[in-house]
Amino acid sequence: MDLGIKGRKAIVCASSKGLGKACAMTLAGDGVHVFINGRNAEVLEATAQEIREKTGSEVTAVACDVTTPEGREKLLAACPDPDILVNNAGGPPTGNFRDWDRDTWIKALDSNMLTQIELIKAVVDGMIERKFGRIVNITSGAVKAPINVLGLSNGARAGLTGFVAGVARTTVQHNVTINNLLPGPFETDRIEQVVAGEAKAKGISEEEARKSRMAANPSGRFGQPEEFGQACGWMCSAGAGYMTGQNILLDGGNFPGVI
Ligand code: NAP
Repeated sequence: MDLGIKGRKAIVCASSKGLGKACAMTLAGDGVHVFINGRNAEVLEATAQEIREKTGSEVTAVACDVTTPEGREKLLAACPDPDILVNNAGGPPTGNFRDWDRDTWIKALDSNMLTQIELIKAVVDGMIERKFGRIVNITSGAVKAPINVLGLSNGARAGLTGFVAGVARTTVQHNVTINNLLPGPFETDRIEQVVAGEAKAKGISEEEARKSRMAANPSGRFGQPEEFGQACGWMCSAGAGYMTGQNILLDGGNFPGVI
């Protein structure tokens, strides 16, 4: 599918692996110059090379921690005028809320709410001036259907979702859209952490936790990162200018609601 964004520039945060990488791959596949990011420089460079070889597009690797002000400055210095921003960062740890102190909460808010808001603030006015912008925040299905052991994620991402719902209505008149893409269970390193947390909380083996999670999903499986990347690509496409402030769930039908 031609997304109509060839030659555009995209910052894709936390994209050396998993869902972010799949988003970067789809965008690069459509001729977008992607600025990818991760903390481990070696893994990041290997991913950059893989994307270049598979797509022939320009890829710039920016190794930094996106949840710090210095990290965000580095990313924005490499690409001060992105047309597309895919906001992403690692998910917070699983656990019991009785064990979390203020510092734990502030770290989760930094990673999964405030970093995304800071980056939107840094790029949105340039997008408005240029009359094109696509911002996609990778959040979580936990925003719609909270997962008990992921209380830090449930809370922090709900804050981002509320913020986006307001601001997205102020930018769409300038062809700048802001939407959230909500992953259910996808086959990445992160799902292994969540499965391990669930196994511990329920006193079952990780294999049992994994199997029961898959069996409970109408699709009978976990999603593939490429399926996530394709959806992100469409949300960043030239033709997606009339959708803003939405929360799009990709979960194999796991959420049982009608809407
Ligand atoms: P993943 O496979 O573990 O990949 C995470 C990526 O983010 C890696 O490239 C990692 O590289 C990078 N990263 C992590 N923290 C970073 C930071 N502070 N600064 C820069 N880069 C960072 O995870 P994923 O499955 O793609 O998940 C992406 C997001 O979706 C997470 O927030 C996760 O909680 C959420 N989510 C995932 C699922 C799922 O089933 N996979 C479900 C719901 C929500 P480095 O470690 O080298 O920095």
